[in-house]
Amino acid sequence: MKIHGFQKTTLLDYPGHVAATVFTGGCNFRCPFCQNGSLVLEPEGQPLLSEEEVLAHLKKRRNVLEGVCITGGEPTLDPGLKRFILQCRELGLLVKLDTNGYRPELLGQFLQEGILDYVAMDVKASPENYGRATGCPGFDVGKIRESIRLLQTGGISYEFRTTAVRGIHSVEEFEEIGKLLQGSAAYYLQAYRDGGDVLGMRNRFLKEESSARETERMPGVKGSFQEEERIPGAEGSFQEEERIPGAEGSFQETERTPGADRSAGNGIMEAFSRKEMEEMAALAGKYMDKVELRGVE
Ligand code: SF4
Repeated sequence: MKIHGFQKTTLLDYPGHVAATVFTGGCNFRCPFCQNGSLVLEPEGQPLLSEEEVLAHLKKRRNVLEGVCITGGEPTLDPGLKRFILQCRELGLLVKLDTNGYRPELLGQFLQEGILDYVAMDVKASPENYGRATGCPGFDVGKIRESIRLLQTGGISYEFRTTAVRGIHSVEEFEEIGKLLQGSAAYYLQAYRDGGDVLGMRNRFLKEESSARETERMPGVKGSFQEEERIPGAEGSFQEEERIPGAEGSFQETERTPGADRSAGNGIMEAFSRKEMEEMAALAGKYMDKVELRGVE
């Protein structure tokens, strides 16, 4: 698995456990409020850690660590994910997977095989607003519904979570999110944090940069990024043997969400107030027993 980041110890990422967190790169969504813009848009430009080294560290620390969180980016796009999960399990570690829920077939397979202990799935918005929240107009919410169903019936611990962003969400739509998640075990509402690596802000920056560099464009670049938004030098940075078959960029074309639009969300994005977040929690809470706020001041 391609590991682009490693947090050696966390008390926050895996509820109730001391864990380490590994970060994969690339994603098939383009959520404008994504906090890991670089990891999503230009994983090839991020440092790559050796899987062996990470596993060796986990082995050395397994008397302290109880689990491993695998996050991203979107980990289910990495063809080495299963092998890495199995290697962690061999070390006696619990495995938590963070996912955007767009690959229910893989999630279902992992659940059936019993190789996950906890799944945290992002629920980006109400069904009507999913395309906007993910930067992917024409979004297929059927896959999200299927992943929700799989987790609700999968027999392992799970949580759903939404980062609430003014400019993307409305307070009222949390009633619809509640309906979508009806009967779920746990739902968390997270506050949006502004930051330098927010994807929507990077898109805007990259657009300005690339139009200024129009005359310097590298010859021969092609593929799924819009030409004017492509990061110079991005092509060819994968080793051939590591390249996912058919990929022009950092993930398979067939896995890119149809209509992915990197220009979405360049409007103003802000955090909601605590009062508004509590209203959202109350609306969603009509359909679930446990709805909590996370990171809300
Ligand atoms: S699903 Fe959205 S928030 Fe998560 S890594 Fe992908 S772009 Fe970022």
